[in-house]
Amino acid sequence: MLRAMMASCPCASGRPYDACCARYHAGEEPPDAETLMRSRYAAFVRGDHAYLFRTLHREHEDHAAGAEAYRVQLARAAKRTRYDGLRVLDHDGPDADGIARVLFHVTMRFEFRDASFAELSSFVFDGGWRYVGGITRRMAAAQAEGMRIATFVGR
Ligand SMILES: [Zn+2]
Repeated sequence: MLRAMMASCPCASGRPYDACCARYHAGEEPPDAETLMRSRYAAFVRGDHAYLFRTLHREHEDHAAGAEAYRVQLARAAKRTRYDGLRVLDHDGPDADGIARVLFHVTMRFEFRDASFAELSSFVFDGGWRYVGGITRRMAAAQAEGMRIATFVGR
C-alpha cells in the first residue's frame, strides 16, 4: 500500500503519483496545457481511457465516435504498447487564438519494436485544457535532446 502510494508518477515529474497526476485523473482540471499533456501521458501509461476521452477536445476526430469506441481503440493498442518515458521539451502560448502548444518526446515500443516519437501537441481551453491534435515524428530520444518548437516546425 505504502509502496503504491509512493510510486513515482509516469509523467516523469519526479513526484509520487498521488501528489502529481492523480488529482487530475480524479476530476480536477489541470492548470495549464503542459500539466494536461503530462496527465494524459500518465493516463496512457495507466490505461485510464475515460480520462483520455474526457480531455479530448470535442472537435478532435476521435470524439465523434464516442467514449466507448475510443476506449476499445485505446485498449486494443495498449496491449501492444510499452511506454518507457516522457520528456517535455518546450511549450508556448496560449496565442491570440487561445492555442497552447507542448513539444515532447515519448520513448516507447509498439509490438516490441522501437516506436519512439516527438510530438507537437495543440491544446485549447474549453472548460478545462483539452487536446486538439498533434504533429508527430518518429525520433530517438537522443535526436530530440534539446529540441525546441521552432526547430521541430522548421525541419
Ligand atoms: Zn504526473
